[in-house]
Amino acid sequence: MKVLVINCGSSSLKYQLIDMETESVLAKGLCERIGIEGSRLKHEPTGKDKVVIEENMADHNDAVKMVLDALVDPNHGVISSMDEINAIGHRVVHGGEEFSGSVVIDDAVMNALVKCSDLAPLHNPANIIGIKACEKIMPGVPQCGVFDTAFHQTVPKKAYLYALPYEYYEKYGVRRYGFHGTSHRFVSSEAAKMMGKPIEETKIITCHLGNGGSIAAVQYGKSVDTTMGFTPLEGLIMGTRCGDIDPSIVTFLENKEGLSAKEVDEIMNKKSGVLGISGVSSDFRDVEAAAAEGNERAQVALDAFAYKVAKSIGSYAAAMNGVDAIVFTAGLGENSGSTRQEICDYLGYLGVKLDAEANSKRGKAMEISTADSKVKVFVIPTNEELVIARDTKELLDK
Ligand code: AMP
Repeated sequence: MKVLVINCGSSSLKYQLIDMETESVLAKGLCERIGIEGSRLKHEPTGKDKVVIEENMADHNDAVKMVLDALVDPNHGVISSMDEINAIGHRVVHGGEEFSGSVVIDDAVMNALVKCSDLAPLHNPANIIGIKACEKIMPGVPQCGVFDTAFHQTVPKKAYLYALPYEYYEKYGVRRYGFHGTSHRFVSSEAAKMMGKPIEETKIITCHLGNGGSIAAVQYGKSVDTTMGFTPLEGLIMGTRCGDIDPSIVTFLENKEGLSAKEVDEIMNKKSGVLGISGVSSDFRDVEAAAAEGNERAQVALDAFAYKVAKSIGSYAAAMNGVDAIVFTAGLGENSGSTRQEICDYLGYLGVKLDAEANSKRGKAMEISTADSKVKVFVIPTNEELVIARDTKELLDK
């Protein structure tokens, strides 16, 4: 079985074609600037040269057509006909309270997705457009939806309710949903395998640290708490997002700076985080380089980031009454040994001991704690596309 995994943004479409016999990626790529001048497709067929095709893509229908053309192209293609694609798996950002697992997409699911769009106005509409485009260009090919929020639907009410009037939860679904669920699910399950234990016997804290970041407490295989909330703005300090702040700052800034609610929202999402503190960049590599050259604001941005992560890990160790393993994943978590070290320096009280040599390595799943560390620490590269493809296969096999 070959599964096409699609991740649609408002002006982008990422894809991977995965052969499920071997779970190998046949090709992957990205359509950028859909509906904007200068659109292009970057296509990477495994074992062949990458190509960049600059061609107008007026909408997502054009993008899906271009992806299919690239996949069957005699030179840079990887399959001989579109019929070889057995199913499509879509990443969908928000499943609200409706979806606690992946689903085959039908009319009822589409209606529910439209309903959830209120909760993720920037993301779900793009996901829906992608699903409709695939339906149009590849009619009859089964499509599945895999939700970022689904894994966190096991979080108990005491952890997902905000202390606001209860009617806002009932009327609008104002509650913690959590995101990056596909990644937290994948790395927690890999960590249990690396520990040689059934996941039902483990307490794992998973740290997805990329441009966006979140931490999850995964107790006995189920998410019981996570740092992102009603939106992906809550929780950790991120590349450009502020994470937790005193909510009164919003009205304070509106008054002082004469800003609208929308402008403050933009500042909190796009101009804050390590970018906001450092004034250097949202990319941790740039901030690390600036800090190494003596830039104090860059250093304090990194320190504040690591401090916040360490506090969140501590709170989840408390929430689960213990922790067996901590996992680092995503761009920063997988690649920055210095960040992992700075975070773990706070965790001596848990009995965490990092192996400096292992922590300096990169690129594969590995244990980076010492043999006598009370809590195991792992680096596990995340693979959300593979989870989407696996879920899609499993749903269709049923
Ligand atoms: P992601 O959102 O998972 O793609 O992660 C992207 C972020 O990971 C980038 O913004 C970088 O800040 C960070 N990152 C990637 N590689 C490194 C590295 N070698 N050192 C430090 N940070 C990195």
